[in-house]
Amino acid sequence: MARPELVKLSERVHYLPGGVNCAVVVGEDAQAVLVDTGQDKDYGRHLRRACEDLGVTPVAILNTHAHADHFGGNAYLLRQFPELTVHAPPFEASIVRAPYLEPVYLFHGARPLPELTSKWLQAEASPVHVEVEPGALALAGVELELLDTSGHAHRQLAVRVDDVLLAADAFFGEAVLERYPLPFGQDIAGQLAGFEVVRSSGVRLALPGHGDPTEDLAAAADANAAAVRRAADAVVTACQGGSSEEVAVAACRALGVEVGDLPRYHLNLCTVAAYLGYLREQGRVEARLEGGRLGWWRC
Ligand SMILES: [Zn+2]
Repeated sequence: MARPELVKLSERVHYLPGGVNCAVVVGEDAQAVLVDTGQDKDYGRHLRRACEDLGVTPVAILNTHAHADHFGGNAYLLRQFPELTVHAPPFEASIVRAPYLEPVYLFHGARPLPELTSKWLQAEASPVHVEVEPGALALAGVELELLDTSGHAHRQLAVRVDDVLLAADAFFGEAVLERYPLPFGQDIAGQLAGFEVVRSSGVRLALPGHGDPTEDLAAAADANAAAVRRAADAVVTACQGGSSEEVAVAACRALGVEVGDLPRYHLNLCTVAAYLGYLREQGRVEARLEGGRLGWWRC
């Protein structure tokens, strides 16, 4: 993986563009906070070099949520900087400590298929020293504000630093939405609320976990909400008595989602399950258990 160029977002916030964006927040006394660490040790190595270029030592990692691609660099960085303290929201912290949980939950709680245990879905384990809640947090002498953007992941935080929002997967960049018409989500009502948190965050600029930074928060929130509404409509239309998997297949086909491998298949199933639960609460679909078979019907 070629080494990405560090991009400056504000006086003390920089990020490394990549499949996953990771940020370096420069604090006091040449210390730094890393917000997310990417998928693996390559990301960790790039972050270490970025810190060297900035002349800072990382003293804290803040993981916004526990999808493997956001904390997979932790273990490498902890080997390089054993004094690092790792911060993550509760619940997510449990997965950072035991990353096998991610392929397990994607495979209905059972022992996962080996295809689900690649580093894309199962990162190297890392300790979490401090579990953090929404609100103010001072790290390396920098006042951060942690915003609750749970939805894409069960307990996700976005991080405000001065006039920059490190939004992680609270929203996706437009090119990412175009490529993935069924954006991953675990709690759809939460995901929709998260877009409003981004919209009203009052910052100058927001950086998504995947995609380019944007100054047009309203456009980003609108585009993401529209994508979720489109996906919800496709799931409702697909509810014609079939099982969850049949609904997922029909909804993916309608949305033009390509499903070429087992990890993507199971990520889509998880997302469609999130939609089915959400839509049932909304009274738009119902679940009927008949003859030992759970079928989904639009209302
Ligand atoms: Zn994620």
